[in-house]
Amino acid sequence: MSAAPQLIDSPNPAPPVPGETPSDAFLADLAAESQRLESATPDEILAWAHERYAPSLAMGTAFGPEGCLLLSLLPKLAPSTYVFNLETGYQFQQTLDLRDRICEKYGLEIDMLEPELSVPEYEALHGGPLYKTDPDRCCHDRKIKVLQRAAVGRTAWMSGIRRDQSPVRAKQPIVAWDRKFHLVKISPLANATKQGVWTRLLKEGVPYNPLHDEGYPSVGCWPCTQKADGSGDERAGRWAGNAKTECGLHTDGGGI
Ligand code: SF4
Repeated sequence: MSAAPQLIDSPNPAPPVPGETPSDAFLADLAAESQRLESATPDEILAWAHERYAPSLAMGTAFGPEGCLLLSLLPKLAPSTYVFNLETGYQFQQTLDLRDRICEKYGLEIDMLEPELSVPEYEALHGGPLYKTDPDRCCHDRKIKVLQRAAVGRTAWMSGIRRDQSPVRAKQPIVAWDRKFHLVKISPLANATKQGVWTRLLKEGVPYNPLHDEGYPSVGCWPCTQKADGSGDERAGRWAGNAKTECGLHTDGGGI
């Protein structure tokens, strides 16, 4: 384990208010902190995030293995974190059951944030399921807009993305300004590997989605998730047959 990161003594530059562009000093401070945390463990990054941003710190999770690992650490390292899931209405029942197991085991409350329209209302409005014809719009309506609403009044959010998951995520800093959601974005597992996450998950008995044992390397909404295609690409089963590889939460201003 590396040495605990030292907290800087000087006051931190204030985050921008809604509608304001972040100052150069603020961005430089985030970049310096991100660089310093490159040698920190995920536990140390979580503790740092909590010390700096609680009680305005949030975490989004889709209950992937990375998210489950972070959730298991929250009670000890970042106990006041507001945790949410983007409940699109299209999640697997196994994912919703996992949410219950995690909450029970770690004593967590996880807010299930829903879009304005239910699935039947949304599909009726668009003459059928939009995930078949316009998945970008579907993700925007049922994920991005929901997180934009949840971001109001908060300062920072965390997610479990790893750089080695995909080329889009490869340059994700540990700490960065997320202009899409007007929040500081913290990625405590940016440096982690798939094997490292799974080794710790299994060693520490953290609950995970049983769909992984059935051949799904990455689990999202059921209409847009398939089993592994043999390519070794852990996100190949998401939006299979479509050029789309991300829902948009981690692209275009997601700290990259
Ligand atoms: S992953 Fe698929 S079903 Fe879920 S919000 Fe995106 S397009 Fe819609």
